[in-house]
Amino acid sequence: MQAEMEQQNLIDGRWRPAGDGGLLQVRCPSDGLAFTRIPESTNEDVDAAVRAARKAYESGAWSRLTATDRGRLLLRLAELTDCNRERLTTIEARDTGKPMRQARADIEATVRYFEFYGGAADKLHGEVIPFSDGYHVQAVREAFGVTAHITPWNYPAQMFGRTLAPALAAGNAVVLKPAEDACLAPLALAGLALEAGFPAGAVNIVCGTGEAAGRHLAAHPGVDFLSFTGSPEVGASVQAAAGRNHVGCTLELGGKSPQIVFADADLDTVVPVVVNAIVQNSGQTCSAGSRALIQRSVFDRVMAMLSSRFASLTAAPHHEDRDLGALISAAQLKRVEAFFEQADTAPLCRGDVSGSAPEGGHYFAPALFGPVSPEARIAREEVFGPVLCCIPFDEEADAVRLANATEYGLVAGVWTNDGSRQVRMSRALRCGQVFINCFGAGGGIELPFGGVGKSGHGREKGFEALRGFTQTKTIIQKFG
Ligand code: NAD
Repeated sequence: MQAEMEQQNLIDGRWRPAGDGGLLQVRCPSDGLAFTRIPESTNEDVDAAVRAARKAYESGAWSRLTATDRGRLLLRLAELTDCNRERLTTIEARDTGKPMRQARADIEATVRYFEFYGGAADKLHGEVIPFSDGYHVQAVREAFGVTAHITPWNYPAQMFGRTLAPALAAGNAVVLKPAEDACLAPLALAGLALEAGFPAGAVNIVCGTGEAAGRHLAAHPGVDFLSFTGSPEVGASVQAAAGRNHVGCTLELGGKSPQIVFADADLDTVVPVVVNAIVQNSGQTCSAGSRALIQRSVFDRVMAMLSSRFASLTAAPHHEDRDLGALISAAQLKRVEAFFEQADTAPLCRGDVSGSAPEGGHYFAPALFGPVSPEARIAREEVFGPVLCCIPFDEEADAVRLANATEYGLVAGVWTNDGSRQVRMSRALRCGQVFINCFGAGGGIELPFGGVGKSGHGREKGFEALRGFTQTKTIIQKFG
């Protein structure tokens, strides 16, 4: 396990500092104070990680393990993660500023990723395809080889499980560049992977800035497939880099997801879920329900119910375990404040920041806006903070038009007791997941997840992710 004061990269089964000794300070979002340092990796560090992954793959040290044995390693990692649940929870909460119970839930989800893909590793079958007489045709699924993963700061532990577990289960050797703002849980999980017995080079992790380590990894000719989660702007540059190297990539880029509330819904059930969907992780969730589209006949009533909930919300340091924590960084706080200040109207209601919140922490009191014009910037762009915009609509067709009127398309929630409308709405919405009379901010580990348009492309989670980290080889055999 690494010392508290200084973290290192995991390359080829060994902990190493950045080649030139460069370090970045890590600050706790709850108080803004620096408490550890991570390597500021150079191009050479990234090259070494890619080389190590290539060696693990091509030497057979990793790729020749049976699918069952790869699965067993992931299941062992699940066990170790579970045994270290409290330690990982503390690391994650301190690094991201999220309340302890949210960090705990994230670690539980991370365990589930390792369990799900550990169990799935040896269930990925090929096909026999009927063809002309005298031919035997098989389509087999093969790993890409070396996959690179660039992840954001909002769910560092979960992202480790979500993107690495299916890639490893499918037989790839992986290189992860986690976000510089929060990468301590991924480093701790990489340490557990080492302890679980993953061969050297199967799992590599290089910390550092996006501009240096991230950019170099995305453009690396030794990478066979890229998986990126983060902002649409960086996603576009990652995709361009993948294109130059003629390799595939999946992009998960956030959203402006609607919660659509029809007048016939059970409003007492709806309101707490709508509030939670924007408050969870301080709204820094790609699938946050950041727009509430509410049928006009119940608009005022729902706004009153939402206001009373918002008024009771408090942002506080992670260890106090209140409704929400600090935002990740001073830069993110500035970004959210800019959206707030440029809004056309004043908020209808705001929560509080606790009196115990230290001066240097990045706190933003949750804000409820409505009625908001659908054209307003705050109603169209991803704020990535605890800001809910409410928009009234009249007919079902208006709800569909408004819901689909952003460049994003990640998830949507539909609240109605009319069964036919549930089906019509779920078909008409342009997004990757639709929740009916519930909202799960991204859904379970088992459920395919991903977006359309500016939310990205490709699917994570479930068996789709496992298949997504493989390519099909068709073998055509003539027999006499
Ligand atoms: P970002 O896209 O800059 O960072 C995401 C990851 O990409 C990090 O690991 C970062 O180091 C890396 N990166 C940055 N520049 C890179 C480059 N040129 N080449 C390769 N990798 C690079 O996101 P951010 O600055 O952390 O957040 C900005 C906004 O992005 C947020 O306000 C939010 O709207 C959105 N965001 C979305 C998600 C999501 O889950 N979809 C997560 C975080 C942020």
